[in-house]
Amino acid sequence: MHPFDFASPRTLNDAVAAMAGANGQARALAGGSDLIDQLRVGRRTASLVVDIKNIPEMQRLEYVPGEGLHIGAGVSCTNVYHYAPVAEHYPSVQDSTQLIGSIQIQNRAGIGGNVCNAAPSGDTIPPLITYGGEAHICGSNGWRKMPLEDFFKGPGQNALTSDELLVEIFLPEPPANSSGHYQRFIPREEMDIAVAGAASMVAVEPGTNRCTQARVSLASVAPTPVRARETEAALEGQVLTRDLVRQASELAPNSASPISDVRGTVEYRRQLCKVLTRRTMEQCLDDLGIA
Ligand SMILES: Cc1cc2nc3c(=O)[nH]c(=O)nc-3n(C[C@H](O)[C@H](O)[C@H](O)COP(=O)(O)OP(=O)(O)OC[C@H]3O[C@@H](n4cnc5c(N)ncnc54)[C@H](O)[C@@H]3O)c2cc1C
Repeated sequence: MHPFDFASPRTLNDAVAAMAGANGQARALAGGSDLIDQLRVGRRTASLVVDIKNIPEMQRLEYVPGEGLHIGAGVSCTNVYHYAPVAEHYPSVQDSTQLIGSIQIQNRAGIGGNVCNAAPSGDTIPPLITYGGEAHICGSNGWRKMPLEDFFKGPGQNALTSDELLVEIFLPEPPANSSGHYQRFIPREEMDIAVAGAASMVAVEPGTNRCTQARVSLASVAPTPVRARETEAALEGQVLTRDLVRQASELAPNSASPISDVRGTVEYRRQLCKVLTRRTMEQCLDDLGIA
């Protein structure tokens, strides 16, 4: 590993100043579960590593009724899935944070690092997209917000400039009468990278079960996470049934552009898009009491 300087600022201003002063050679450190290994094997380089965990804004984990959920970029997966409003209002976020790595990894790693690492296989990302997540970013030119969907620019590439930090992910209040779930496929029980993953979120009109909103986001089947828009369009405005969900799930691979690699072929990943979309949708129907 190449030597680097280390800073552990206590304020956001100091952290941004440290990032800006490193001529594009600084990297933020959250849990370090991606970064440390990447520095060790030379996939990333840094002359300065800036620990963001001691900055109060990065540790915010707060659900504000009527507004939404703030998840600071330094909050661990463990703290996210133990926070009761997450299970109550954003169940797919609980699903995904509970399956990252192992207990030890979950205690260190967080959603902020998973998002910034921008791996196509990042498990926490599809659920955040289905809930309309926003990235709140701070840099030397001040604050900006962007839809999380637009944050990913390619494998390992995100929309941040070299002096910017992701401060939090914000999820707006979920629609009324909604549920969401995330599933991935890996060949073993844990500690593996998703061959494919799918998050679904559906909302229905009470009484009629007419779908007022449907969101599906897929992992590991394109250079960035994608929305399965044809599936969403086939569900929105319709009365939800198991048959309709099955038909709509068949459309999910139309939004994917998977590759063949050691984990699976193009055809296998396309099939997983259908199966995982259907299964996560069916979990939502179960939660909503739709037979
Ligand atoms: C054994 C093991 C198992 C794993 N299993 C899974 C898995 O099942 N699913 C999965 O998706 N991932 C998995 N991972 C990958 C990793 O744990 C996750 O991506 C994790 O969420 C990263 O979070 P972190 O806090 O450790 O990020 P870090 O490693 O600290 O950071 C990741 C990247 O984001 C940047 N960064 C971090 N915070 C900020 C910020 N606030 N602003 C700007 N840039 C920032 C860093 O510079 C770095 O480039 C695994 C890793 C290991 C080692």
